[in-house]
Amino acid sequence: MRYISTRGLCEPADAPSAILEGLAPDGGLFVPEEIPVFTEEEKEALRGMEYRDTALLVLEKYLSLPEKSLKTAIRDAYDSFEGGEPAPVRMLRQDLGVMELWHGPTCAFKDIALQLLPRLMSICRESTGLKEVLEILAATSGDTGKAALEGFKDVPGTAVTVFYPENGVSAVQKAQMVTQEGGNVKVYAVKGNFDDAQTSVKAIFTDRELAESRARQGRVFSSANSINWGRLLPQVVYYVRAAFDLAPKGGTVDFTVPTGNFGDILAGYYARRMGAPVGRLVCASNSNDVLTQFIRTGVYDRRRDFYRTLSPSMDILVSSNLERLLYLAGDGDSAAVRSYMENLRTQGFYTVRAETLEIIRSVFDACSCTDEEALAVIGDTYMRYGYLMDPHTAVGMYAAQRFAVPGRPMVLVSTASPFKFASSVLRALGAGEAEGFEALDKLSSLTGMPVPAGLDAVRRLPVRFTDTVAPGEMKDLFR
Ligand SMILES: *Cc1c(COP(=O)(O)O)cnc(C)c1O
Repeated sequence: MRYISTRGLCEPADAPSAILEGLAPDGGLFVPEEIPVFTEEEKEALRGMEYRDTALLVLEKYLSLPEKSLKTAIRDAYDSFEGGEPAPVRMLRQDLGVMELWHGPTCAFKDIALQLLPRLMSICRESTGLKEVLEILAATSGDTGKAALEGFKDVPGTAVTVFYPENGVSAVQKAQMVTQEGGNVKVYAVKGNFDDAQTSVKAIFTDRELAESRARQGRVFSSANSINWGRLLPQVVYYVRAAFDLAPKGGTVDFTVPTGNFGDILAGYYARRMGAPVGRLVCASNSNDVLTQFIRTGVYDRRRDFYRTLSPSMDILVSSNLERLLYLAGDGDSAAVRSYMENLRTQGFYTVRAETLEIIRSVFDACSCTDEEALAVIGDTYMRYGYLMDPHTAVGMYAAQRFAVPGRPMVLVSTASPFKFASSVLRALGAGEAEGFEALDKLSSLTGMPVPAGLDAVRRLPVRFTDTVAPGEMKDLFR
């Protein structure tokens, strides 16, 4: 399988290059040249298949890498998940399930991709004979950073640097990152929001001169952000799995996805295009509802206020992965993608063609909710179903309730453990105020659920990283 850029201004790349480079040389995102489709036999076999076998089947369709290495990588990645199941679905009602993607080491769904990506990168590095150290840079709105650090720590031939917005992550998220262990890791706070950090990381990736000077030191930049195809691909698997597990004969399963950078929900779209029985995809936003407005109107407009919400991993104004959907829904018209992105850069907005919007709306719905509404959903869901959810998942629950069709299976994608955002969850339950680790303990004693091991361990680790940088200084760290 070859990979082409959404902006169409560079040569096709093979899978290892696409995964090792992250971003395409023309600033676009790599997409597979065509989307592979399951055969009828594979669809038959997919009913009742194990998660790891499903992962192998999906990955092999996109990556021509040795089967044995892929198998080992998949096994090792998912053995680190509590209970050994990366994406268990809890049914709240007969037609409403919650797919819990947070049983990995950092308690957020990013682990699903970031436990596998470093292993894929190692295989790609071997297969291409690359000698340089892969220098992974990641801007994070909270969860990616820790998951990347945990995934890459001490992986030979890699180094990882994470930038998080100074005031944009929770106390526990911050503690998870600044205590990170490992000899190849660095963590910086950025004076700005997530978009500032992400924009500066992108500027580093596209700076030729910097890349050349880095190469002379035996290092090449790469990305672990969800713009990397190797991040997106592992996420396709859980949609395929849940759809085949829960679809009635001849029917489909709808999914609601709490959305930020549009990576998670886009993986659902790929699963659908591959022929998995995926029905509608509901994009759920918090008050930073730029995607909801886009799906409703076809206008993507970032000229708006940025809000810090109780679901910080979704506090995003520029959703990078949307570019891939624009490409796919625009039938591969990369000139159109280029003009949208140019308009976004120079004017702060773009309007997609009517046909493109129509194609998007034939699959996607969208809805946003406020912090107050999300908190109310947490309390209500706990009362009604005895089920505890975090504020990101609650944004999704709000949307799922709005778009669920009675009798038709709806799966809500749950992206973080409630313990990762314990103080908000306590507030939602009317259990008073508590911060940081005190909140974890309080939530645990209130609900009788144990604090997840991965979070509990953090409080005993020493702080290793305290540096702060301005977005404009980030480049200088690599000179
Ligand atoms: C990253 C993240 C999201 C958003 O996922 P995208 O792929 O960026 O849309 C939602 N919830 C949580 C908890 C996350 O960590």
